[in-house]
Amino acid sequence: MLAIMGFSKQYPALMENLRRPITGFTFAQLSEELAKLGKEKYRTQQVFFWLYRKRVRTFAEMTNLSKEVREYLELNFYIPAPPQVSMQVSQEDNAHKYLYKMTDGKTIETVLMPIKDRLTQCVSSQVGCAMACAFCNTGDMGLMRNLATHEIVDQILEVARNYPDSITQKYGDRITNIVYMGMGEPLHNLQNVLDSLDILTHPHGFNISHRKITVSTSGLVPQMLELGKKTRVNLAVSLNATTDEIRDQVMPVNKRYNLKALLDGCKEYELGPGRRITFEYVILKGVNDSRSDAQRMLRLLDGIPSKINLIPYNPHPASPFLRPELPELLAFQKYLLDRGATATVRFSKGPDILAACGQLRSKEALRSKYAERAARV
Ligand code: SF4
Repeated sequence: MLAIMGFSKQYPALMENLRRPITGFTFAQLSEELAKLGKEKYRTQQVFFWLYRKRVRTFAEMTNLSKEVREYLELNFYIPAPPQVSMQVSQEDNAHKYLYKMTDGKTIETVLMPIKDRLTQCVSSQVGCAMACAFCNTGDMGLMRNLATHEIVDQILEVARNYPDSITQKYGDRITNIVYMGMGEPLHNLQNVLDSLDILTHPHGFNISHRKITVSTSGLVPQMLELGKKTRVNLAVSLNATTDEIRDQVMPVNKRYNLKALLDGCKEYELGPGRRITFEYVILKGVNDSRSDAQRMLRLLDGIPSKINLIPYNPHPASPFLRPELPELLAFQKYLLDRGATATVRFSKGPDILAACGQLRSKEALRSKYAERAARV
């Protein structure tokens, strides 16, 4: 230990590069790291407590750890705190959209949504997205890279460290729900998402119930089945069409896993007792909003414990799609309800700050897209 400390004093820059982000380690992984140095398991509990309950920014604040352990942590790890580039608050529904800068300069967005008695945070799992859904602003960016485990966890930690008073006065300092519905296809970054879920649900970590966390997918069937085997969080599947012809057009993933493969996968998915799969359905005027669509949807979901979220499309610049009128939407919902389905209309949060479903996109990507367009005209 002393030798390492002497080395670190001599070569601080090199040690800096060797330090790893501690919020990327699950409880088991961190225990293993500490065990290598003969540190007992309860040290991990203490470290998790300081990281996720007290949300400290330095190891020096972990006052019930011995000086020796704190120095060891300092030498081997760092506590990340991504710089906040901006924060916008929706005037319509008080959604808070945060933009954070990663160490490589890429930016990601996360949205905090105070809704009645729930404080829900929507997190990103990738920078951009490879799935190229036709109605989605993020999909338009293409995939830049996966987020590391700590970059997923740090979104929640950093937002929580800085909750505005208006949030803490109503909700205290605890998030109640997490949805993996920000930038990216979570199951395209499965291992890091699983590790982040481990940290979020661990009793010594954030200690959020599996039932309060939802992971969405555009329909990566094998990864979806793996998710069901490895964790008990809720699953949301983006359906968005009732024929392969339309789904091929709006969600190219359908060419790999068509509706039959997707729904067979949903039937096979390991659901706990009383649990249901949420099917998200972004309603696009004249594309997937007909009576025949509603009829087919009921047939497709027959036999799957399900609830349907109808999401009125959120237009964004350059999109060819339109939102149906409210009476048409409600008629679509009524058709489903009258036939025994559970179907809600979910208006996305923060439409005025482009925080709604399918609108998240880093500003740098927007800027480059507009620059490209400007160059063409
Ligand atoms: S809707 Fe989701 S999966 Fe599809 S492109 Fe957008 S972020 Fe990716």
